[in-house]
Amino acid sequence: MSVYHQDYMMKHEQCLTSVRSLIQQSLSELGYSEDVFELLIEPQRTLAVRIPVKMDNGHVRVFSGYRVQHSFSVGPTKGGVLFHPEVSEPQMKALSIMNGLKNGLLNIPFGGAKGGVICEPRELSFRELELLSRGYIQAISSMIGPYQDIPAPDVFTNSQVMAWMMDEYSKLCPDQSAGFITGKPIVLGGLKSRENSAGRGIVLFISEAARKKGIDLNGATAIVQGFGSLGSYVAKSLSDSGVTITGLSDAYGAVYNASGLDMDSLIECRDSFGTITKLYKHTLTSQELIEKPCDIMVLAAVENQIDEKNVTTIKSKIVIEAADGAVSDEAADRMIQNGILFIPEILTSSGDMTSSYIEWAQNRQGLIWSKEEGEMRVRQILADAFLRIHEIAEERQISMKAAACIAGVYKMAESARIRGWF
Ligand code: GLU
Repeated sequence: MSVYHQDYMMKHEQCLTSVRSLIQQSLSELGYSEDVFELLIEPQRTLAVRIPVKMDNGHVRVFSGYRVQHSFSVGPTKGGVLFHPEVSEPQMKALSIMNGLKNGLLNIPFGGAKGGVICEPRELSFRELELLSRGYIQAISSMIGPYQDIPAPDVFTNSQVMAWMMDEYSKLCPDQSAGFITGKPIVLGGLKSRENSAGRGIVLFISEAARKKGIDLNGATAIVQGFGSLGSYVAKSLSDSGVTITGLSDAYGAVYNASGLDMDSLIECRDSFGTITKLYKHTLTSQELIEKPCDIMVLAAVENQIDEKNVTTIKSKIVIEAADGAVSDEAADRMIQNGILFIPEILTSSGDMTSSYIEWAQNRQGLIWSKEEGEMRVRQILADAFLRIHEIAEERQISMKAAACIAGVYKMAESARIRGWF
């Protein structure tokens, strides 16, 4: 095992441990017994597969992959498939549990799942990628289906990959292919409103949070850390709603202007890596930027940005964690005392899952919803989840992250209990 391999395996093991402790904390907060913990800490089904692919050079290469299904207590399981060199079994387990929590807090009728194939998709030809996608579906076909487990796109998989997977599945189970997979191209039943659904979800949470804090978006100020596709979408949408964007950062540094930055020219000069400060001179570091006063702060860059050491320097009224792990749990707890409304990543990343649910519902009914209808249905679910989680957080005086986990765990545990598993 190489040092590099050991490194990410350790990270994935740690991630699984911390997901398990989230489950345990929520269960004990809700008063469930240890038996329920035993059920929920480990996925109900884990399948490891080997996928042979005839490569362009004539050799056969065998790829390893997984499909992990966390809990069937709520209904079929749901989650994306990632193609990445660092895929591992503990990572798949942790992410399937997180998807279970996410579906639970959104109150959508799925348990959590996750899948992945260990590969470097950027080194595969189009043909090899197609064969790998088809091979993966063949290998896991016995445990997936629209009433069993529904895959979706994730890191380095897209609507084309979903189309190949759907085609392969429809050869194996022709009567069940509608709604077998989500994130499909629109011509194959994909949701018209899927594009930018993650960003739209974040903008919706910001406006709900602003309402709770009595902040009028028109005239509010915002700082956006990270100017990739998500950060720039959110910054532009906020600016279109009358928010003044006072600070932005990219991987090299940050720009700040208390009276507002010109969003249109920033979007124009942004390159495909989200870099702006090559054209705009850095005036401060990304860390210095997040200490500036503002109404709304969006963390859409990298992990480990706010912890118990720097949380006291944060002067924003609302903090949105759009990048996984940007805020530590201790910092999230401290923000409550400091009167900051913190919206955790488990919530901000739920836009895609919600769109997937709506796509599945559309396919199962044989309908095609307009972009507006799709968006409206997604918005309703997200707004409802926000309000429910906010209420739990207020009632129990806990962070929105802890409240979101409680909502998610409750759905899984209560469904199992009422089915008679306990
Ligand atoms: N990338 C999402 C995940 O697995 C996809 C979820 C879905 O749409 O099913 O977290």
